[in-house]
Amino acid sequence: MCNMNINRKRLLVLLLMNLLVVVHIILWYKFGCQRVGTFSLNGVVSLFGMGLINSAAAFFIFVVLMTAFFGRLFCGWGCHFAFFQECALKIFGKFGINPKIIHSNATIIQYVFLLKTLTAIYEFWLIYGPPQFHIGFGETQVMTVDLPRSPIIIILFVLFDAFLFIYLMGSRAFCRYVCPWAPLLAVFDNFSFWRIRKVNECKGCMTCTKSCTMGIWVHEEIAQYSAVVNANCIRCLACTNACPNGTLSYRWGLNAISITRRFKWLIPQQRNYNWYYELMLIFGGLIVAYYTQKWLGSFQTFLGAAWGLCFGMLIVKFLESKRVPVLETIQLKRRFLVVSLITLSTLTWCWMTSASYDIRLLLRGNRYMDVLEYDSAISIYNQAINEFPSNHEVRAALALAYKMKGDYNRAVTEYKTLISVNPDNAALHNNLGTVYYRNGNYELAVEEYKKSIQLDGDLIAAYGNIGLVFLKQGNVEEAIPFLRKVFPNEEEMLKYILTLYNPNQGKNG
Ligand code: SF4
Ligand code: SF4
Ligand code: SF4
Repeated sequence: MCNMNINRKRLLVLLLMNLLVVVHIILWYKFGCQRVGTFSLNGVVSLFGMGLINSAAAFFIFVVLMTAFFGRLFCGWGCHFAFFQECALKIFGKFGINPKIIHSNATIIQYVFLLKTLTAIYEFWLIYGPPQFHIGFGETQVMTVDLPRSPIIIILFVLFDAFLFIYLMGSRAFCRYVCPWAPLLAVFDNFSFWRIRKVNECKGCMTCTKSCTMGIWVHEEIAQYSAVVNANCIRCLACTNACPNGTLSYRWGLNAISITRRFKWLIPQQRNYNWYYELMLIFGGLIVAYYTQKWLGSFQTFLGAAWGLCFGMLIVKFLESKRVPVLETIQLKRRFLVVSLITLSTLTWCWMTSASYDIRLLLRGNRYMDVLEYDSAISIYNQAINEFPSNHEVRAALALAYKMKGDYNRAVTEYKTLISVNPDNAALHNNLGTVYYRNGNYELAVEEYKKSIQLDGDLIAAYGNIGLVFLKQGNVEEAIPFLRKVFPNEEEMLKYILTLYNPNQGKNG
């Protein structure tokens, strides 16, 4: 009864956390209240990749410090996704379904995800150089705005990452196999002095182990260390409440963990299957995650991993039920193992190096454009063009940089190169026209603007640009038909014309 109470309390706290998330999302997306950015552990990338101290980075620091002092309390009592997993387990319980906790080395998947996240930091260093620390709580550029906004994706997440996943692999399957923060928080958990500790005689009844949300062999840890030292312990307190002898308590004490033990969390201690089943699960999770990411975008990687692991588990269950002698059917098992490991390494490598060099150079150049350092941007774009001459995105950025710098001849050359391979691109003609306009070559400017209108009659900017050129030439009559396409009413248009001829007019009203 007492156990139920603590679980209920925890569910209530987790529900509250989700309600806060909902309020935050409503304020952010519906009311545009974006003074405090997205809360996410991805803040580690903001922080160390760009030096951006935003809400997510502050949140990350808070969670890490809390974990180092109190253990993974956040996972037990604070994570929004924990709520869905706990609900799934509770609902299964109501139908008399008690999913078996599967132990497998497929937990390696979360290490791959963590590595992938951390390599994003390295990629930012390559693009932007060393991090320059600055505070910007409303800024969310670096992986901290990548939340699922589509209700369909959220439903898919809850259905697969919580319900199906837990049904097939047991309680907190997402935390144990997919979440990249689990291994990271586990590192800091090792420093915590607040643990589940033995405070009374243990009868070895194993009730604690049976009730453990994370599938830890609590009775064994208590017997060996007089404390739960497994870094997967999320301090949910289910075991302390389940123990009929009051043996366990969550309290401060000297750390019972040796240095070697501290690093044992790297190697999963338990597993249910032989290595060929294990490989099937690992491959299933990683391959499906990889293609899901390519197909649906980066956030959906986790969804893909759950799909892959569930698929792998279904095959394992099928093989087990048919009692297929898999090992005997694989004659060359060593060769199979080597090929599997090579494929796994290649796949991991492909994943790690997903951002190509030209894109990195483009982003690095854009960074200089943001701070108006055009010479540096031009030098980087030119470096990219030398190596990737057919990258039109980089050439367009280079043309823009020349234009902004005021080097109009070079800007014209670059735009003409772009137009030679893409003559029907209205925006390019409009951009070239703007370069001519800035250079004082009004005739050529109008010619290019007209070409862009011929290609795309809806390109409002081109109409406005032609109107502007005529106004500059003092030809108001010719400007008006073009300006009418831009301004919703005559009054606005008149105001614009007057402001152009007498800049003080607008201010005086
Ligand atoms: S392991 Fe990940 S998903 Fe699970 S509770 Fe912790 S942060 Fe949340
Ligand atoms: S439930 Fe309590 S008595 Fe039973 S094994 Fe666990 S710690 Fe020991
Ligand atoms: S050992 Fe106890 S506190 Fe830790 S996860 Fe298991 S049940 Fe929760």
